[in-house]
Amino acid sequence: MNTNAIEVTDLKKSFGQLDVLKRVSFNVKAGEVVAVIGPSGSGKSTMLRSLVHLEDVTGGTIRIHDKALVENGQYASAGDIKSITTGMGMVFQHFNLFPHLTVQDNLELAPKLVKKVSKAELRRQSTELLAKVGLADKADAYPSRLSGGQKQRVAIARAMMMNPDILLFDEPTSALDPELTGEVLRVIKKLAEEHMTMVIVTHEMNFARDVADRVIFMDNGEIAESGTPEQIFGNPQLERTKVFLNRVG
Ligand code: ADP
Ligand code: MG
Repeated sequence: MNTNAIEVTDLKKSFGQLDVLKRVSFNVKAGEVVAVIGPSGSGKSTMLRSLVHLEDVTGGTIRIHDKALVENGQYASAGDIKSITTGMGMVFQHFNLFPHLTVQDNLELAPKLVKKVSKAELRRQSTELLAKVGLADKADAYPSRLSGGQKQRVAIARAMMMNPDILLFDEPTSALDPELTGEVLRVIKKLAEEHMTMVIVTHEMNFARDVADRVIFMDNGEIAESGTPEQIFGNPQLERTKVFLNRVG
């Protein structure tokens, strides 16, 4: 049986003349947590966005649970793309909450549009998820009344409303004041302990070391080096990995 949740092979993405992803290949097993680190501009966001078809790639193959989203640069049908990406949630650096909706309505908006479940069931699910991220008391608040850390926890709960089996995070704490990162990282860690399959782009090296099963170091549009946290942080093989880690650590 193929237990890879994500298989990426020779992924390429160019913006005009600029080759942003150059033959990127990696797999993520079901239940695995992979941290992606690397300098600004190395292609981390473009890689992550490609997995949920927020970017059209130039070449290569992406398989999600063995279904090809794109194969040798040829995309699946619109319907197949939709069904493949529906099982994937993404959390961005900027929370992108709807300011005119309460916290609970933010959670329920997307599933109300696409899932065939009752209002009562949605309410039950959103109530449960808000409790899970420690925000049961903020259900009726508007996003403007929340701290950055609370907003990001709402964004995570909102992503969970679609019952994803893969979650992608693009620098989920980079827009937060340092004292607010812990509450967000704790929620992500809890998901890791529940064996949610996750790819997390992060600048938080201690967090990556703590929760990741595997670490991918991207540099200049390539995966320069990957391994266990012990290997990458404790015994990096490449000079450019060492240089990067010295700069951020
Ligand atoms: P990272 O997330 O590692 O900082 P990105 O994936 O955001 O890197 O960007 C990689 C490179 O692609 C950068 O040089 C960036 O300027 C470029 N890039 C990203 N998005 C676009 C775009 N929509 N158009 C043109 N260039 C882009
Ligand atoms: Mg980025």
